[in-house]
Formats: sequence, C-alpha cells, structure tokens
Amino acid sequence: SPDADSRRVVLLGATGSIGRSTVEIINGANGAFSVAAVAGGSDAKALAAVAIELGAEFAALADPSGYADLKAALSGTAIEAAAGPEAVIEAALRPADIVVGAIAGAAGVAPTFAALAAGRIIALANKECLVCAGPAFMRQAAASGTRLLPVDSEHNAIFQAMGDAELSSVEMITLTASGGPFRTWSVEAIAAATPEQALAHPNWSMGPKVTIDSAGLMNKGLEVIEAHYLFGIETARLDVLVHAQSVVHGLVAFSDGSVSAGLAAPDMKVPIAHCLSHPRRLVTKARRLDLAAIGQLTFERPDFNRFPALRVALDALRAGRGLPTVLNAANEIAVEAFLKRRISFHEIAKIVEQACEAALSDGVAREPETIDEALAIDFAVRERTRARLPGTAAAS
Ligand code: NAD
Ligand code: MG
Repeated sequence: SPDADSRRVVLLGATGSIGRSTVEIINGANGAFSVAAVAGGSDAKALAAVAIELGAEFAALADPSGYADLKAALSGTAIEAAAGPEAVIEAALRPADIVVGAIAGAAGVAPTFAALAAGRIIALANKECLVCAGPAFMRQAAASGTRLLPVDSEHNAIFQAMGDAELSSVEMITLTASGGPFRTWSVEAIAAATPEQALAHPNWSMGPKVTIDSAGLMNKGLEVIEAHYLFGIETARLDVLVHAQSVVHGLVAFSDGSVSAGLAAPDMKVPIAHCLSHPRRLVTKARRLDLAAIGQLTFERPDFNRFPALRVALDALRAGRGLPTVLNAANEIAVEAFLKRRISFHEIAKIVEQACEAALSDGVAREPETIDEALAIDFAVRERTRARLPGTAAAS
C-alpha cells in the first residue's frame, strides 16, 4: 500500500509519449505516488494496461465507442471504467494532489481546465492549453490559488533557472530549439519533405503532432506563446536560439548581466520528475548529462525563411486578438492533413497564416476571455480550415 505521505496523481494522456515517461517515473519512485485516475483518447487496450500497471482507481477513455473494450480489458480488476468526454473530465476531477496534463492538442483544454478550476496543481505538458486559452488558464490558476508547473523541457529549464527572481529583473528569456530533422535542409527540400522525414526527430522521441510541429519550428512558436502566458512576460523579452545538441533547454538573462541556463540530457523524464515532486527532488534513472562526451554546444539564429511557421506564430502572438487560438486550431488541422498526405510540408505554415489573416478580416479574431469563448473560436477555425483544405469540395 502507498506511503501515508505519497502524492495522489491523475494522469491525463496516460497512453502517450509523456504519459509513458510519467509511468516510468511513478514506477521508479518507490511508492512516492499513487494514481487516482488515468485518461486516454481511443486506445482502450493500452489504457487498460496502463491503469492496471499503475493500480489506478478509475480509467476514462475519450472515445465512447471504446467503452466495451475498456470494460472487458479491466474485468476482474477493481478499476472503474468509463468512456466519453465527460468521463475524461470526471478523471480530471478525481481527488488528487497533482494532475499531469499530457493530452495532445486542444482536446486537453476542457479536462485540464476543469482540474485547474478544482484547485489542482497541474504538471502541464499540453502546451496547446495555453496557446488556445492562455489568459483564461492563468486567470483561473490565480483565482484557484494553485499553479501550472511546466513539463515542457524549455519552460521547465527556464522555471528552474529563474529561481525566485523578480520578473522586473529579467531582461530576456531564451528558449532553445533543436532545429529538428530539417535544420540543415534547403527551402526546396523542406517544402517537399514527407511525413516519414518530418517524423524522424534527431534528439527527441515524441507523439506525432509535436514531432511535426518541431520539424517546421511551429513547436517553438507555440512554446514562445506558452512562455508568454506562463511567465507573464511580454513578447519583446522572449527569444529563440537554435541549439542542435538539446542540452541547454532555456536561458534567463538578468538586468545585471548574469545569465542562468537550464541544462539536462534530452529526456522528458527529467522535467516530469521535477514537476511531480516539486519543490522536492526525486532520485530518477533519467539519462544523465555527459558534457565531455558531447564536447561542443553550438547556437545559431533561427532562419525564418526556411522555417516560416516560427514567424507566423510570433506574428500571431504580437497581433493578439485571439490569434494564438486561431493559430493553434488551424495548425492542428494542417498537421493532420500533412500526416494524411493531403498537403505538402510547406503548406502547413501557409494554411495557418491564411487562417490568421481570415480571422482578422472577418471578426472571428477576438481575445477569448473564457474557456468557452476560446473553444468556440477553436471550433469555428477548425471547421473553416478543414473546408478549405485542397481536395475539399468547399475549397476555393
Ligand atoms: P501523444 O500523441 O504521444 O499522446 C497523447 C495522449 O493524449 C495519448 O494518451 C492519447 O490517447 C491522449 N488523448 C488524445 N485525445 C484525448 C482526449 N480527447 N481525451 C483524453 N486523452 C486524449 O503526445 P505526447 O507526445 O505525449 O504529447 C502530449 C502533450 O505534451 C502535447 O501537448 C505535446 O506538445 C506536449 N509535449 C510533449 C513532449 C514529448 O516529448 N512527447 C515534450 C514537450 C511537450
Ligand atoms: Mg519543448
């Protein structure tokens, strides 16, 4: 049985890449954690397996058609099964000390926000929550008297490097980007890249959506937006550096000229462990950093010409008026279309940019004050972006 002072965890997105790494941390922590609930998207068997492995009390599958499979896979256990979007919210609301938000995409907004509104500490991997609805999330965290701890490696490094410094003493926050598989490729080669090439990330093994985002540096754009809301810092004090080794994940430059950097091997178990036990430290088997073996750390400016998605994302953040919400929704549709080979790689950034322009000109763009407003914009932009994809009847 778990230790008396063990932490109760809810794991949203338990079957994914961050979910699996979280399971490894929990299993290696000698009873420091117990699991109240797990939630997943559509793979009933995988969700049942992780629920059993963690000894969870409740397993929720978002896809209602998977209920029978989930129930069957959990038969003979004491684990309660449920399916549908409301079941995922129910999982998010099970009593817990910390909720790991590791759903991919805006599908995570409603359950993660529900946990936040219930006063839970959130270990947030699901950056799309903040890109889609940053102001509502940050306002709710303050109102609930709780906090969002960043799992995203750059934000986690920055959070640690910041210490208890006053925001006014921070001159610049820098997020590093590995540059992805196309870091040295020509414009033409990137434009024609296949899903297989875009999915072959040199440093990180991640879910498909974030891997495609990383290949075009859209991921870094989403992360700058995430940092803007999370740290409450204006766009002019946020910077991006390409750093191929993925050893320095983030830097904080202070007003006296000092710079603190967050370093770790590129292993998501490091920031996950940090968030799960914050402010204490776990002992983990996460990969250790061997600087002598790495030898050299290199840094370069991002190339907006070869990676237009980064520019499109930064423009959306500067424009405000809900454009981050629009950007996120259009990007999810474009990435899905690219993975289905309906569009080429360079069309992702174009489709997203067009969605932002359209939203500005027709009044869809406005700063969402609430989660419902953010999700309404998200829904409208998805519909419209889908309808305009090449090969769609309604496309003009
Ligand atoms: P993934 O695709 O591997 O996993 C996504 C998880 O979400 C799966 O468990 C899936 O079943 C679940 N899911 C999907 N829709 C759901 C729904 N409606 N309700 C409940 N669960 C649902 O993705 P990932 O790589 O683990 O990434 C998760 C999030 O973490 C993303 O926002 C990503 O940007 C962020 N992130 C990932 C990494 C990484 O190394 N993988 C690093 C930094 C940030
Ligand atoms: Mg990251």
